[in-house]
Amino acid sequence: MKLTTDLIHLARPGQRPAPVNPPVVRTSTVTFSTLDEMRDTKQRRANGERLFSYGRRGTPTTHALEDAISRLENGEHTQLLPSGLAAINLVFMTLLQPGAHVVIADSVYQPVRRIVEGWLRPWGIAVDYFDGTPEHLSTRLRAETRLIYTEVPGSLVYEMQDLPALAAMAAERDIPLAVDNTWSSGLLMRPLEHGATISLMACTKYVVGHSDVMLGSVTANGELGRRLAEMAATQGQCIGGDDAYLALRGVRTLACRMATHADNARQLGDWLSSQPHVARVHQPSRAEHPGHGLWQRDFDGTNGLLTVEFTAETPPSRVDALVDSLTLFGIGSSWGGFESLALPCDLAAARSLDDSWSRRGPCLRLHAGLEAVDDLRTDLARAWTRLDE
Ligand SMILES: *Cc1c(COP(=O)(O)O)cnc(C)c1O
Repeated sequence: MKLTTDLIHLARPGQRPAPVNPPVVRTSTVTFSTLDEMRDTKQRRANGERLFSYGRRGTPTTHALEDAISRLENGEHTQLLPSGLAAINLVFMTLLQPGAHVVIADSVYQPVRRIVEGWLRPWGIAVDYFDGTPEHLSTRLRAETRLIYTEVPGSLVYEMQDLPALAAMAAERDIPLAVDNTWSSGLLMRPLEHGATISLMACTKYVVGHSDVMLGSVTANGELGRRLAEMAATQGQCIGGDDAYLALRGVRTLACRMATHADNARQLGDWLSSQPHVARVHQPSRAEHPGHGLWQRDFDGTNGLLTVEFTAETPPSRVDALVDSLTLFGIGSSWGGFESLALPCDLAAARSLDDSWSRRGPCLRLHAGLEAVDDLRTDLARAWTRLDE
């Protein structure tokens, strides 16, 4: 069955009569009829079975969501975390020990740099950044490299990478390749299908889709999937039933929401690319994007994100005035919800290897929400006049 059909039918209660979604289970304690039953459950859990045994170890509600994310990622095991950032940390925690080395793509989600400086380096874990190409990656690998960590497309300006080529290089040296798949949300691309060993997502974004839950996921196959789950259990990582319920509800409408986000973003991108003061519009679905060919090859579609790069002469203060005058685009972090957002971004601070950004114009990331695109365009057109004041 097609993924979009599965997303509607998976992880639903089997017994009838039944609600269409699994109900919210809120509990810490799980009670058993006998001590034998309890001991047997714990034994089977120790052998790697996913069982309802204690709230922190998951409930039928969180298990249902895990199954939905596993289907989205086309993987065997999914571990849920209280945020996307916690999901990234779980991957590092599971695979890196003092003395190890990790290679990280330069275009990653900016707070990953905070993990590097605030935790990895102080704990004796060596870190190198690579520019996203297999050629550069091969010059960064060391005997102690225990993880290659990347994100496709990159955050903010959506640099593309040849994922199968990176995966082949990682596999040849037996190094796990982890990919942040938040941009695609599994619907548009599945890193495990391209040879990655781990795929993670900030479900906070499109999976939840309504900007009302923080949630992360890590998906992997086989033994590695179990190791990730064990480390999460060791660290006491778990999520609440209400959040799991809302995220599973988000999964049901993911495909149709994404189609509208993508449509709106495409139309806004076309219009913005011909506006004054715009140097370029970053969006991998645009033919002029440097990674357009890879996007066409590896992805099934696009999403609601686009980033406007203004000409180098544009004062950042005028862009700020533009943003302040928007009425339909909210000012705020994150994306993937039903609403439109605008956020100025500092690419010079977000990249270590590409110094061209210090000479380029200011950038403004937009998330196209589910509003009527004509209204979004009108809002932007009115705000654009602020650039000339
Ligand atoms: C937002 C985001 C995260 C972090 O997710 P949170 O749930 O906000 O912690 C991680 N990776 C990417 C690519 C993101 O956009």
